[in-house]
Amino acid sequence: MIEYPETGTLGPAATGTLLIRNVRPYGEGEAVNVLVQDGVIADLDAAADTTADRVLDGGGNVLLPGLVDIHVHLREPGREDTETIATGSAAAAQGGFTAVFTMANTQPVLDQPVIAESVWYKGQAIGLCDVHPVGSITKGLAGKELTEFGMMAQSAAKVRMFSDDGKCVDNPQIMRRAIEYSRGQDVLLAQHCEEPRLTEGAVAHEGEHAARLGLRGWPRAAEESIVARDALLARDYGGRVHICHASTVGSVELVTWAKERGIPMTAEVTPHHLILTDERLYSYDGVNRVNPPLRETHDTVALRQALLDGVIDCVATDHAPHGSEEKCCEFEHARPGMLGLETSLAIIADTFVRTGLADWRWVAKVMSERPCEIVRLPGHGRPIAVGEPANLTVVDPDCTWVASGEAMASKSENTPYEGMEFHTKVVHTVLRGHVTCEHGTASAPRTEAQQ
Ligand SMILES: [Zn+2]
Repeated sequence: MIEYPETGTLGPAATGTLLIRNVRPYGEGEAVNVLVQDGVIADLDAAADTTADRVLDGGGNVLLPGLVDIHVHLREPGREDTETIATGSAAAAQGGFTAVFTMANTQPVLDQPVIAESVWYKGQAIGLCDVHPVGSITKGLAGKELTEFGMMAQSAAKVRMFSDDGKCVDNPQIMRRAIEYSRGQDVLLAQHCEEPRLTEGAVAHEGEHAARLGLRGWPRAAEESIVARDALLARDYGGRVHICHASTVGSVELVTWAKERGIPMTAEVTPHHLILTDERLYSYDGVNRVNPPLRETHDTVALRQALLDGVIDCVATDHAPHGSEEKCCEFEHARPGMLGLETSLAIIADTFVRTGLADWRWVAKVMSERPCEIVRLPGHGRPIAVGEPANLTVVDPDCTWVASGEAMASKSENTPYEGMEFHTKVVHTVLRGHVTCEHGTASAPRTEAQQ
């Protein structure tokens, strides 16, 4: 049995001292030694011979604020055969994350305070990552009746984001009511943009490749029509709307349009929509099925530019574990979704930093600071500075490794990057002074949680 903390506050910060030796904050300047005391950064220029209860060798690598992912699926409760809060937290720690937001499409649906609190407490008891539950917008994800945003927001889990992700809140009147309600509670609505009447039976991006293969196509307009509609609703009713996994050129244009008008809309992009395209359909491998589908090269180019320009605010993985029986089957029967937590940083760094398009400060912005601003999460996404919580990630910017689903901490293996070579790797992760990942391997859970 798990021993739950007594209060709804965060799990304990580490007590004592931790010295992270030889790291370069944001990859800038000379390497320094970072001293952490009782979970807080105490000194950014400690002497090399400083004594500490625990010492981590940073190896001259890059020090970033702990990464934050506002879109994951940890599958608990209900599908613990594919992922649990424990295995998902370990995957997060190995990916450099110190906080994740886990979506509401669990079984039962995360639509009540009691379920939100059980997820939150369990994440804290495991202690490898702060696991923030996302509440559903509608009861049972049925799209008909709103959940009690206020009760979930005021619960111990302090739910800050609501989403029916996996499904779209397609009824415009329900979405309008949700936006009005969210405004009063000051919570974020995250929309999975998919007009279901345009995607019935669709399994792949509607384009040349799906047509050749005889696969039913998922048109861009199915996504963009909802982005446009929700921009207009946010304009008129003032709630904060966040676009999950933007995947098309048109979505980028619509978010640009909304932001230019001061509409409170933000957007995320997944690593897979930045680098993979629908040419992968020829493999017929179910691991490439995802929702929204992999698009075309010019979509990926537009998404990368939009992330650099700040039109798209942040990276979120949409980490979606599935069992092999759900993926190793006919393409149209494969469940949509891909693992993402353990490859995200490598993809972003390899695509943007190693190519000279961006620097580590920018990585900290799109993978840590901006996600926290969007969700209004305190304690994470903070600058690396004395007095700040020690939520930190050490990254090796020059380390070649090969992705392997079997080697990942996630309980599932559905990575689309199997066998792919990456050149950036997370070395250590620290959560409020606790070492949650050391030399690329997640630490043991704080309590004996079920695996
Ligand atoms: Zn989604």
